[in-house]
Amino acid sequence: MAMSSAEEYSSQSSLFRAFARDGKVPRQLILDSFSASGILDDDPRAKTLFKAIRAAEPLLSQEQFLALHSVSPALFEQVLAGQMAIPQFTEFSEQIENIFDRVSGNKGGQLANYIPQLERVDPEKFAASVCSVDGQRFSLGDSDDFFCVQSCSKPITYCLALEEQGEEVLHRYVGTEPSGKTFNELTLNAKGLPHNPMINAGAIMCGALIKNDADASDRFDYVMSKWKECAGNMKIGFDNAVYLSERQTADRNFALAYFMREKKAYPADVNLLDVLEFYFQCCSIEITTRAMAVIASTLANGGNCPLTGAQVFRPDHVKNCLSLMSSCGMYDFSGEFAFRIGIPAKSGVSGAIMLVVPNVVGMAVWSPRLDELGNSVRGVDFCRQLAARFKFHTFDSTTGLTDDRIDPRRNLYESRLGGANAFCWAASEGDVAEMRRLVARGVNANVGDYDGRTALHLAASEARLNALRYLVELGVDLNCQDRWGNTPLDDAMRQADADSNTYEPIISMLREHGGTSNKTVPSRQNK
Ligand code: GLN
Repeated sequence: MAMSSAEEYSSQSSLFRAFARDGKVPRQLILDSFSASGILDDDPRAKTLFKAIRAAEPLLSQEQFLALHSVSPALFEQVLAGQMAIPQFTEFSEQIENIFDRVSGNKGGQLANYIPQLERVDPEKFAASVCSVDGQRFSLGDSDDFFCVQSCSKPITYCLALEEQGEEVLHRYVGTEPSGKTFNELTLNAKGLPHNPMINAGAIMCGALIKNDADASDRFDYVMSKWKECAGNMKIGFDNAVYLSERQTADRNFALAYFMREKKAYPADVNLLDVLEFYFQCCSIEITTRAMAVIASTLANGGNCPLTGAQVFRPDHVKNCLSLMSSCGMYDFSGEFAFRIGIPAKSGVSGAIMLVVPNVVGMAVWSPRLDELGNSVRGVDFCRQLAARFKFHTFDSTTGLTDDRIDPRRNLYESRLGGANAFCWAASEGDVAEMRRLVARGVNANVGDYDGRTALHLAASEARLNALRYLVELGVDLNCQDRWGNTPLDDAMRQADADSNTYEPIISMLREHGGTSNKTVPSRQNK
């Protein structure tokens, strides 16, 4: 529903109020909010806005602030009010970095050696990237290095076949059951069809159902354009040497393709060689973890790319894809992975793992050493650590209080207390950035709790000087009394009896701005 202009005005003015100091908003504060939210410089949604912010005065009047707001109102408000998919994105990134550092010492596993190109990759390479469904991004390690996607192409190939054929038709040609066998096992289900689209036979079959009547070159162009669209137009490459090697060492994939032909599994008019070539090409697509995380976030976001808003796949098709990633995406380890980690994922023999936490975040990890099942050793370790730290398992309760894993979807303070008290919590913790976001969302900074304890009382009691300064700048009532009749200055003075060094600056700041005590005679310095 559209906002009335009065509502719009009040939401914009609370934004301004939240960030203003002496009637002006420092431009740097806006830039800081964007970088803390994980909105990067190359974000296509923010390019024009960033240009406007950089061109603006260092201190913005309300009018100048509103002019910036009008460049990109939705994103501007979402970022400044902290209403993103992962509200505490900086803290979330720190956790990811900590996991990355912890598992980086894991040197277990071996490089894939069935083609020389994979055997020659530097085994030490390690990268991880995340992209939330609101396009908040963060990357670590070798995240600008390209690697071939291998089996991570299978979910995309499946989605493309679904878009073209629909679920009903496509699944006449490919099943939905885990095979319980390795990815290239020479086996079909009881109907003579591939078990599922996440293993080689199934991916070869899905390829046969994508633009089957088009030229091989047009078909490949089309597929590349779809990959790019999923990745918010980031660069996607192609490794010709990998492709040539794949083609040369493909006895098993040829055997699978012929086996399916013998069982009459294909639709009419399929050229088997074309279909195999197409499969090798898909395995040889090159990508960075940065771009792969955006693709994963497109899947996390029901097929809508967070960076561009393009609806690349239908949400019901993405749901099908995630269901199969969850039951069949990690080769023979899929059952264990679904049980312990519970995040839909797809791995490839290049050492990549694409992870999708539906409605929250997409991630990509790349580390080339593999275990005996073909999964990246460090990558799986990373996933285990993620599961230990975050409530990301598909079947995690979002309300249960049985463990202390983090739910990054929730605002830290809001989840602790709910709604209006969040501001008081943030003040008592001295978290000014969060206080600012809450004011931007329209929270009244003067409101107290059941006992009449306001954010200012809490900031004073806990000696949170920055929070206190922010509240003073906001112009809150310095002499509000709680139910016992205490003002914030009373609180600070009481604490100063035990710890005067800590509380002296609090007392001076309150006094300097007109804070009085209800319990003592106001000093002469008071204005
Ligand atoms: N390209 C290889 C094959 O088809 C490996 C695919 C994969 O990552 N499992 O055998």
